[in-house]
Amino acid sequence: MVYDRYGRPIRDIRVSLTHRCNLRCIYCHGEGELDPSGELEAYEIERIVGVAAGEGIRRVKLTGGEPLLRRDIFELVERVSSVPGIEEVSMTTNATLLADKACELREVGLKRVNVSLDSLVPERYREITGFDELNSVLRGVDEALAAGLSPIKLNMVLLRGLNENEFWDLVRFSKSKGAILQVIELVDLGNEVFQRFHVDVKPLEEELGSYAERVVTRRSMQNRKKYFLPGGAEVEVVRPVHNSDFCSNCTRIRLTSDGKLKPCLMRSDNLIDIIGPLRRGADSKTLRELFLKAVELREPYYGAKGVSRLPKCSQ
Ligand code: SAM
Repeated sequence: MVYDRYGRPIRDIRVSLTHRCNLRCIYCHGEGELDPSGELEAYEIERIVGVAAGEGIRRVKLTGGEPLLRRDIFELVERVSSVPGIEEVSMTTNATLLADKACELREVGLKRVNVSLDSLVPERYREITGFDELNSVLRGVDEALAAGLSPIKLNMVLLRGLNENEFWDLVRFSKSKGAILQVIELVDLGNEVFQRFHVDVKPLEEELGSYAERVVTRRSMQNRKKYFLPGGAEVEVVRPVHNSDFCSNCTRIRLTSDGKLKPCLMRSDNLIDIIGPLRRGADSKTLRELFLKAVELREPYYGAKGVSRLPKCSQ
């Protein structure tokens, strides 16, 4: 296991498979990819994940853009799942293309999916995502369940005046599917979207806290809380905005779709190019050094409660 200079262990890698997407969500941060220049081959991603696994990474989250737009998605999942040391490969998807693929994804090694689902009302879903795809998404959720991709998490970004009044409908829907509802606070991209749609999720956390039968703090997931509600519903709240607790407990590193290691979602000024050296024939030792360099560049964007920068020699 490798630790960054704040003593945070690096356990997960979030791999963007493509910058392309078939939806146009009004709030999308595109995984912080500003100007990507191409995509990696499946074997290249396998090699980089192998380097990360060699340093103790055990979980891989495939993302994008929309990862299911990759024509070689089955090969990709199979290759990444079979990297020695990798224990879990999951995917975050808008699920518009999931229904026909869920079963084979499970067969080649995918363990679970997070599905973006901001609204259950067709007109509102279209308003948020730009497309009339709600039915395909709902079919995708059902097929993922049938395939045994479990647990399914439904990602809802809370948006003022758009879907905030649907929160309890989504709680009931998630429960009916045996899924976990993950409510995400809108991340600020420095544009008018945040001013217009941002909802502070703290009051919602308080409401959930007073209503829940049980609250569990998940240390392995940025200290986020999981609320077990009466009747069996499960809700997680992700509060990445101005939350030093979120940064203190961040165990993640990212690989952009064009082959750069990205130490933090919120920053793009400290990327480490790994695909260039890999394509020029770099050996494993060099790739490992690049990975460790990216880990060393991890800085808590919103500060980090309870952790402080360690002197270099203590790494
Ligand atoms: N297309 C895939 C999907 O829909 O899951 C993967 C990429 S998408 C960027 C990954 C997740 O980030 C989605 O659940 C989405 O809702 C969330 N997301 C995107 N922009 C966000 C923002 N500005 N604030 C909070 N969450 C955001």
